[in-house]
Formats: sequence, structure tokens, C-alpha cells
Amino acid sequence: MRTWIKDPLAILAEAAERGIVVEDGRIVETLARGAEPRTPVDAIFDASRHVVLPGLVNAHHHFYQTLTRAHPAAINRELFDWLTALYPIWARLTPRDLRLAARLALVELLLSGCTTAADHHYLYPAGLENAVDIEVEEARALGVRMTVTRGSMNRSQKDGGLPPDSVVQDADAILADSERVLKLFHDRKPGALIRVALAPCSPFSIDRELMCETARLAESYDCQLHTHLCETADEERFCLAMYGVRPVELLEEAGWMSRRTWLAHGIHFNADEIKRLGAAGVGVCHCAASNMVLASGVCPTCELEAAGAPLGLGVDGSASNDSSNMMEAVRHALMIGRLRYGAAAITHLDALRWATEGSARCLGRDDLGRVAPGLQADLALFRLDEPRFSGAHDPLAALVLCGAHRADRVMVGGVWRVVDGAPVGLDLAALVAEHRQAARAFA
Ligand SMILES: [Zn+2]
Repeated sequence: MRTWIKDPLAILAEAAERGIVVEDGRIVETLARGAEPRTPVDAIFDASRHVVLPGLVNAHHHFYQTLTRAHPAAINRELFDWLTALYPIWARLTPRDLRLAARLALVELLLSGCTTAADHHYLYPAGLENAVDIEVEEARALGVRMTVTRGSMNRSQKDGGLPPDSVVQDADAILADSERVLKLFHDRKPGALIRVALAPCSPFSIDRELMCETARLAESYDCQLHTHLCETADEERFCLAMYGVRPVELLEEAGWMSRRTWLAHGIHFNADEIKRLGAAGVGVCHCAASNMVLASGVCPTCELEAAGAPLGLGVDGSASNDSSNMMEAVRHALMIGRLRYGAAAITHLDALRWATEGSARCLGRDDLGRVAPGLQADLALFRLDEPRFSGAHDPLAALVLCGAHRADRVMVGGVWRVVDGAPVGLDLAALVAEHRQAARAFA
């Protein structure tokens, strides 16, 4: 089945004014001005009212936190106090809660134009041992591409950490389950729907040995590594007190300085650390909304990119954003970047590149993130007929500057997953009602 996505209003791609041709889940042709498909097509989608983007890639999230948005126990606090307030509440998470939270988060992301999501799940109260399995099932059912991370924590309050003892596991259980889910779900082939990455929560919630063992396991299964790093000044103090080194030095000692690794936040680096991270190809996921909500600081995006680090965007968990809208993440990255670097330093095209190609690089994927022949047919199509766009001139700039929130159509691997602004094959009102009901247990 060859489909021509024809004559877009605008498209984020080189020489594709007449659109693109999609076949067998991939983009097979881009059509420059005046061009026609090389061979006849089976279907034509008239995109003349749509702005076409590569599907957005969310490089950091905590799906389960959709159940604790705008929570009175945690709002108006900085990270460590926020975590301390929420951990005992999160400890109540059941498999059914996680399933609903993942479904809701995936749908919310999809509706914002996101086609690939990474989720960092590190919370393992008794009974929730199959967290990765649940997220994989939900992603497959919705047809959203995912890097599901097998997160971990083994330093709880009894060892000087922040989480209660009931939500952490010991290193043996963590490593055994990491291997189990890698064997079951990690698909290294191009075009994979599901990949697994290993993701200790942060330097202050695991021990050094687990950090090293996790890197060894990632090497043997050829998967990515992920963690929160340098999010706050508190973390730096904790690392110096606990390990006698700064967080980036800990990363180096544990064998994490490679393209295999991408970090969430990456705010409190010094100039030399940025140089070392860039040289090693360590990716950084900038989570602008969360950083503003928790007053954590501003990611040095321009310095990291200049040093060679892949730079992606993420919405972060829904208790510190508190939404999962990837287009909003693009706008936030532009706004906070301009505040730091000036009006000409970061354009809407930079922010869109971070949310697509940049995030894909963080996840170790060269098969998606751009509209180009050979890449996966992951697309987000927006219409500009809402009042907020009326009077806008440059359609691509309008998406970011006027604040696009909802895609009209979303395609993942050549299959439409959102049509007319609604998820295909899912009763959205029923899902929201069920999710809202489940959230009551976390009041
Ligand atoms: Zn996070």
C-alpha cells in the first residue's frame, strides 16, 4: 500500500513541498516542488490544510505520576521536599493503577503529536513486579513506539536515601528482572516498536555497585542507559557527601560515559563536565516545564549541543509538569532557552529539532526523528484553524509560537493512530473517567 501525503501546507523536511510517499511503514519518497511520485500510489491523503512534522519523541516521563498531578501535598516545593512528600503516596501504586496511568499518558502524548515515548519507571512496591510488562502491553495496544526503561532504586530511608523502604528492591532482584525484560521485550531491529533501556533512578537512590552492574548488563544486551543527573544543587551535595565525587565523576567511574547513555535534566554541569559529556556522546533530555515548576534551574542546551551531546526534549513526570503535552514541551524549551541565550540563539526550528531528531538520538534511534526516505513513517499533522493560529504567517513557526496543543492526525509506522483529533479505537471519555476514579486512591 503506497500512500501519498500530498501537498502539505508546510512540512519540516528538506525538498518535500509536494509531500511524501509512505509504504510498508516507512517513508519511501520525498517530493520536491513540481514532483510526482515515481510509481502510481494506492491512496492519496490531501494534506493541504496540515502542517506535517516528524512524530515527536518524548525522551523522559514517569507515566504513573498522571495519578498525582497538582497534588496539594507536593505543589510549591523543590525536588527533594517534593519527592519526600510524594513517595509515601506513590507507594500505594497497584498494577491496575499503572495500567490506567500508562494508557492515559500514552493517549495524552499521542494527541499532542508524540509517536515515540520513553518512560522511566523506577517504583516497585510489592505486587508491581511486572511494571515493564504492563507498559509494553499498553504501548502495543495503542501502537505507540516506546523505550520502556526498567528503572531501579535500592537506597531507601534505612540507607540514607529518600524513598520509603517499601518501594525499593535489592540489587539481585533488580538485575534479574532487568535481564528478564531485556530478553522478553528488547527489539534491536530498525523500526522496532518496543525497546528496553536500563534506568537506575538517580545517584541518590541507588548504590555505586548497582550503577556499575547496570552498565555491564546494558553492554551485553546492547541497550541504552538512562538516569536523572544534575537536576538540582541538592543532588550535587548528596553525591559529594555520599560518594566523595560530583555526579558526572560518578558516571565516569561507573562506566556510563558513552552514546549508550542519555540523562534527564542535566542542569548543574560545569564547563569541563559539558566538554567530557559531549566528547563521549552522552545525550541529555531537557525537561523545561518540570525544571521551571520545581525551580531546579536551566539546562545549558546550547553548550551541550556545541560540545557534541545529543539534545532531546521530555515532558518529565506528570507530578512536576503537570501535563504530558510534547508540543507544549517544544514551546517551553524555546521560551526558557531565549530567556537564557537571547532571541536569535534558539529558533522554533531548533526546538522542533530537539523534540524529534534530538530525542531520537538520545534513545539511540537513527531510524526515526526525521522526515526522509528510509525512515519510519512516524508523522504528526496539525491544522491551523483554531482561533489561536488565526493571522499567523509562517506555519511552522506558528505551531510553536501560537502554542499548538493537539494534533489532528498522527501516524506511527504508517498506521493512523489519531484521526480528527481523536485516538483510533479508544473511548477517551471512558478512559478519563476510569483514570480519574483510580486517582482518588492517591488523595
Ligand atoms: Zn524525571
